[in-house]
Amino acid sequence: MSLIKDYRIKPDSQINLKDYNPSDTGPFKDKNEAVEDVEADRQKLIVLQERLYAEKRRSLLIVLQGMDTSGKDGTITHVMSGVNPQGVQVTGFGPPSPEELAHDYLWRVHQAVPSRGHLGIFNRSHYEDVLVVRVHQLVPEKVWRARYQQINDFERQLNESGTTILKFFLHISKDEQKKRLQDRLDDATKNWKFNIGDLAERKLWDDYQQAYEDALGKCSTDDAPWHIVPANRKWYRNYLIMRTIVETLEKMNPQYPPPPPDLGKVVIED
Ligand code: ADP
Repeated sequence: MSLIKDYRIKPDSQINLKDYNPSDTGPFKDKNEAVEDVEADRQKLIVLQERLYAEKRRSLLIVLQGMDTSGKDGTITHVMSGVNPQGVQVTGFGPPSPEELAHDYLWRVHQAVPSRGHLGIFNRSHYEDVLVVRVHQLVPEKVWRARYQQINDFERQLNESGTTILKFFLHISKDEQKKRLQDRLDDATKNWKFNIGDLAERKLWDDYQQAYEDALGKCSTDDAPWHIVPANRKWYRNYLIMRTIVETLEKMNPQYPPPPPDLGKVVIED
């Protein structure tokens, strides 16, 4: 049974996010039903990542996007619980620095692409250049419109160079965002996560949803598919993303390199 295909977007789709239920929990009634599967996948990931690292021929890039509070950080914590940190590179993309702005928008992204043997996680990504940049009109429409094709070309090139790409949109409802923002205000241990600027972005909710619909529909390719992950339930979000990563690594089937010749003749002296 492969659940992934239910959440994977076909190339050249017209997406209406209202058609996707952010509270969906797939085949599970509640968290308890998924606990064993989650643990099994975590164990599988540990082995698969080690094989990827030992093989050192290919890499896997995981792109996380979503509205504020959608759970990008929580997802990273969960995935990291199943990997050796030595083989993982996590990169967050905030507002570009002056140096980054002096280059093309993919410059900083390309540098962060995981090297062979590594798993890379992007907390936000080059998609911000067709999301926040579009919503706030930071560049003319002609410029951001051209980027969908540029992004597809960039990702295809990465794919052909040995980087498998999985992209996840963490889909929460506007009500759920309100709850999570309120929680950041009420819970002293979460105050540090509250950013007053998030309220201004929340006012632009519909514009962002529209920008996401275009990014997801135009940039889901066989080389680098987008998944719309129902993310109101954190445990299902984690389950689904872990499942997708494990299934993808199983298909990649990384192999330990062959042992050096004559290893059997090596004698370790006392
Ligand atoms: P987070 O809010 O995810 O914890 P940061 O505060 O470091 O992380 O940065 C996120 C902010 O950076 C978001 O508001 C995002 O829209 C913005 N950002 C990311 N990439 C770009 C970009 N290319 N242009 C403008 N703003 C960007």
